[in-house]
Amino acid sequence: MSLRVNEIFYSIQGESTYAGRPCVFVRLTACNLRCRWCDTEYAFYEGETLTVEQVLEQVRAHKCPLVEITGGEPLLQEDVHPLIDRLLAEGYEVLIETGGSLDVGGLYPRVVKILDLNAPGSGMEHRNNLDNLRYVDRKDQIKFVVADRRDYEWAKGMMAEHALAEKVQVLFSPVFGELHPRELGEWILADRLPARLQIQLHKYLWDPDQRGV
Ligand code: SF4
Repeated sequence: MSLRVNEIFYSIQGESTYAGRPCVFVRLTACNLRCRWCDTEYAFYEGETLTVEQVLEQVRAHKCPLVEITGGEPLLQEDVHPLIDRLLAEGYEVLIETGGSLDVGGLYPRVVKILDLNAPGSGMEHRNNLDNLRYVDRKDQIKFVVADRRDYEWAKGMMAEHALAEKVQVLFSPVFGELHPRELGEWILADRLPARLQIQLHKYLWDPDQRGV
């Protein structure tokens, strides 16, 4: 069992309802999407092959109970499932962040799924797998990355159409450097939208272009 791994690092979780917590990130190589504003293009091809045991050894070394598996697109690699299995068995709290095009139905129910629904501004709207909405529950999170007012209106429409706020936690995240978080916050307040504004906290704590944070 092996995985193509781009990087493993220990940092402050910058997104989701877990923002602010120390977390170990396992970033897997490769992605099947090409979001216009992607900030991890270096994960498309770069990486080394590690066994699941080697990944676990690196995770354990950080002595942190929270682990996020991300990418790239982590669900492209079958052996992500045995990795998750082992992490859960060892008592870790496990998050997985996925771009929303691949089926999440096969994931262990205890994993917290952070699932993107790609707005028009990403250029990947046509890749959303809406069947995934059958597999999310209250611990899971749907993330809309919003570049402009058109994306915001689209996300609001998806929330209403699929009654998202009733079954899952909804995150709205402005595209860094394109939409000011305050503007997005003001839209959410004006509409009394039951969504959580999130910023990419790590980009404010460290250099926004820095890897491994
Ligand atoms: S899904 Fe994530 S890693 Fe893939 S292109 Fe989109 S932002 Fe980049």
